[in-house]
Amino acid sequence: MTGFDTCVVIDWSAGKRSPARPSKDAIWACVARGGTAEAPVYHRNRLDAEAWIAELIRTEQAAGRRALIGFDFPFGYPRGLARRVTGRDDPFALWDWLAARITDDATGANNRFDVAEELNSHFDGPGPFWGKTAKDRWPGVPYRKKGIAYDTVSERRACDVVAKAASSCFQLAFPPTVGSQILMGVPMLSRLRRMSGVAIWPFEGTDAPVVLAEIWPGLIEPAVAEDPDDIRDRAQVRLLARALSRLPPETLSAWLADIPDAAREEAWILGAGHAELLTGYAYPRLRNDCFALPPGVHWTPVADALADLKSRLRPVVDSETVSAAQALGRTLAGPVIAARSHPPRANTAVDGYGFAGGYAAGAHTLPLVTQVAAAGRPTDAAVPKGHAIRILTGAALPDGVETVLLQEEATVKDGALHFEGPVKHRANTRAAGEDVTAGDVILPAGRRLTPGDLGLIAATGVAQVPVYQPLRVAVLSTGDELAEPGQEARDDQIFDANRPMLLAQIAALGCTAVDLGRVADNRDALRAALDDASARADVILTSGGASAGDEDHVSALLSETGSMALWRVAIKPGRPLALAMWNGTPVFGLPGNPVAALVCTLVFAAPALSLMGGAGWSTPRGYDLPAAFEKRKKPGRVEYLRARVREGQVEVFASEGSGRVSGLSWAEGLVELGHGAAHITTGDRVRFIPWAGFTS
Ligand code: AMP
Ligand code: MG
Repeated sequence: MTGFDTCVVIDWSAGKRSPARPSKDAIWACVARGGTAEAPVYHRNRLDAEAWIAELIRTEQAAGRRALIGFDFPFGYPRGLARRVTGRDDPFALWDWLAARITDDATGANNRFDVAEELNSHFDGPGPFWGKTAKDRWPGVPYRKKGIAYDTVSERRACDVVAKAASSCFQLAFPPTVGSQILMGVPMLSRLRRMSGVAIWPFEGTDAPVVLAEIWPGLIEPAVAEDPDDIRDRAQVRLLARALSRLPPETLSAWLADIPDAAREEAWILGAGHAELLTGYAYPRLRNDCFALPPGVHWTPVADALADLKSRLRPVVDSETVSAAQALGRTLAGPVIAARSHPPRANTAVDGYGFAGGYAAGAHTLPLVTQVAAAGRPTDAAVPKGHAIRILTGAALPDGVETVLLQEEATVKDGALHFEGPVKHRANTRAAGEDVTAGDVILPAGRRLTPGDLGLIAATGVAQVPVYQPLRVAVLSTGDELAEPGQEARDDQIFDANRPMLLAQIAALGCTAVDLGRVADNRDALRAALDDASARADVILTSGGASAGDEDHVSALLSETGSMALWRVAIKPGRPLALAMWNGTPVFGLPGNPVAALVCTLVFAAPALSLMGGAGWSTPRGYDLPAAFEKRKKPGRVEYLRARVREGQVEVFASEGSGRVSGLSWAEGLVELGHGAAHITTGDRVRFIPWAGFTS
């Protein structure tokens, strides 16, 4: 079996139609692909939800994607119930029995208590189903559980015991109303099962393109409890869909394959017995040890440090669908497919005269038809062979027109067109679909949308695009010496230059910058700031205090988490980077020196943020140009010089002093000098990376 491309989680409801405004206790569905969840979808009633699921099943198959669709209600009853009611041990016999009886409508009005009464009538004494919404109705359904003997069928299934699920399949009213959800859910499954390509786990094989399975968000409760979403059901479907789609395919296959005998009739909760592992995948988080360094490493080469970050980080954002017009700078979470060819019809590229075929050298005269073909104005003019029509740029070619003669090359006299050949067949026209064909992938997932992309998307008829939510990056400055520009500062204080610079760089990278202000060199204040940051941001950048000295409070505090590694990277400018996880949020502890802070942000943080934000690892884009400077460089580290290009040559800033902020403003990018020794003389080619080369 191969893995699933798409994982969907559906939270079912047995109740009346839900309010128009998204709310709890309703039907929520969430689609996840590649470890990222889309915005959950709200359904007001079961009929709409079923139509949506059926459509999804068709779309996924048409797109060649395998889908796992999980439903939050039991697919079966405890052993013995199916035989009691249908005379067979086959769970599908019971599904069909229910499908033949349950009624439902758009308001949510249904007959589930009548059907429960009929189910109970198959038992001597009170049957297993209990709980109702009106005390004086349905005499065959007891109001309370007291007095029901679960002897012929047990109250819970084998998997409910393993998963420690509190709710029983037989409780119809008073939350949790799982019993009602089964009655109102199984008839839907029984219909979906008949769609082509659909299999039901664990009753059928799992090789089908679409597998429907029972799931239970209770397995990931710790992650749900921590989620800030105020609608609990919405958080449940989002986190569980994300967790399923992040599970290694082998793990998911093993869970699907490993089912006890009882499950053949009772069904099974996917992941039962593996709650902790599943919960781990539900957190948006990275692993706590993701910044660990191999022991005994002293100076890590830049390339190794980058390779480590690349292999350990992963996307931490979910996705949403937005209007294309609003998507500038956003990162595509899926490919964009042309809804229509461009151009949709053959048209003319110039103002002129249209006719069929081409003409050889020499003088030609063609009678003109009276109509004019203009852009956006449909014409039913048919141009007979040997005739011509006046046609304006962008107009669709009328029937009988294949070629357009430039108006500058034409003379019109007495209702006829006169021109000199030769004119090539199809000259000055654009063929239908010559630019883009409907159905083509016009932009791949991971692309950060440019103004030109928005033009292409619009031209091909696409109005909405799937994008990742912007990565939220918090920026914090630390140091007792820092003051705020615009305020009084003693002359032993310096203004906080890093914060505005890094906030701006974050925005240029397409992330949402979160300003955390300044904190003095004080552990409690720093701790509070990091707690605040980890609640509001996906990544934290701090500057200052990151080395291993007495006043380096950032690294001291981060090391208390046990997750910190002090990365001594062989780079100039740059002091150690303190990398750690704070409450599950990655922290990049940057050096305080503004030049080092910016260089380390561009070299290390920018590709990491790109990866975590869904755009994939980014490699700086630069080009080789002749140097306008001379420099001797020692081996053993990579050096970055503040640089700019004038008259096709690279100049570097007069001072390499890393405290010289003015050089950051003077420069238009960096020169990168590799790990080895070098003696650069004027005219040697060096690698120049413009600022924008770090952000695209
Ligand atoms: P640190 O990494 O804390 O040892 O700081 C190194 C140097 O950078 C010191 O000279 C600091 O004063 C300076 N520095 C630290 N933070 C900032 C900041 N936010 N803006 C400007 N300079 C800073
Ligand atoms: Mg400091």
